[in-house]
Amino acid sequence: KDNLSNEFCYYNSFLDKIAKKAIRLELDIQRAIENNELLLTYQPKVNLQNNKLAGIEGLIRWNHPSYGIVSPGEFIPIAENTKEIIPIGKWVINEGFRQAKEWNKQGVHFKKLALNVSPLQFYTSNFVDFIKEMLDLYQLDPELIELEITESVMNNIGRALDMISQLKAIGITVALDDFGTGFSSLNVLNQLPFDCLKIDKSFVKQVLTDRKTGILTKMIVQMGKELDMELVAEGIESKDQLTFMKQCNCNIGQGYYFSKPLSVKNMEAYLRLQC
Ligand code: C2E
Ligand code: MG
Ligand code: MG
Ligand code: MG
Repeated sequence: KDNLSNEFCYYNSFLDKIAKKAIRLELDIQRAIENNELLLTYQPKVNLQNNKLAGIEGLIRWNHPSYGIVSPGEFIPIAENTKEIIPIGKWVINEGFRQAKEWNKQGVHFKKLALNVSPLQFYTSNFVDFIKEMLDLYQLDPELIELEITESVMNNIGRALDMISQLKAIGITVALDDFGTGFSSLNVLNQLPFDCLKIDKSFVKQVLTDRKTGILTKMIVQMGKELDMELVAEGIESKDQLTFMKQCNCNIGQGYYFSKPLSVKNMEAYLRLQC
């Protein structure tokens, strides 16, 4: 009996910790920007045909004063709930563009910088104007920029089409992130002019161990290519996964096999090695 009540206490305090952390994060996120606690890390994308750099993706991190580095999986959902994702998303665009400009000035070539945009931010009324302003501010060639959005923006096809068309008219490219994890029909691909399809890492993880996943992945690549999209395989961790994706004719790969997300300094060193 004693033992049981001990376990119960332990379990309780464990849940308590998680709940407390969530509350703390929700409160603290409001001041993360002004306290300079946000940062971007960068992960390379690699051309699978020639092993050359295909571009980089900016991934946000939060350096929290007591918890240390908090991953976006933990705080983005909270920020979405409180709508704090809107200023955070603006910070991401501003910081990514600023860094891109900086690398331009230094002659460091990154090919293309992709940034993630959450649905809430994507549908703010002045989103396209904001992107134009930022391109202008940093005097950036729009061809250097890609925006990644997820299937969740597709609950309004008409609006999504309007937004994507406006962004493409500016000259930036748009990628569909985490493809295969949502519920939208394949028809979405036919109606929305994505430049790039990113196959979710949950597929890549299983291409060698699950026959059906392998077949589906092959079909997705084939279909995407027929629709003139670039195909990125996310989450490549092993040589065998890489070989499989190459055999599928997937053109681009991203994952720990090539590199984990890197600090600005380390990405800079990586990029300098590429030229
Ligand atoms: P995502 O955009 O699909 O980014 C890919 C995620 O997979 C990143 O996680 C990356 O670190 C991770 N990853 C890359 N290669 C591998 C691999 O080989 N194996 C495994 N297991 N994972 C790999 P991260 O950085 O934790 O980001 C998670 C998600 O948070 C992102 O998924 C994206 O949806 C969101 N996110 C990240 N940065 C931002 C941002 O600036 N704004 C918004 N709205 N969302 C962001
Ligand atoms: Mg992404
Ligand atoms: Mg993804
Ligand atoms: Mg994701």
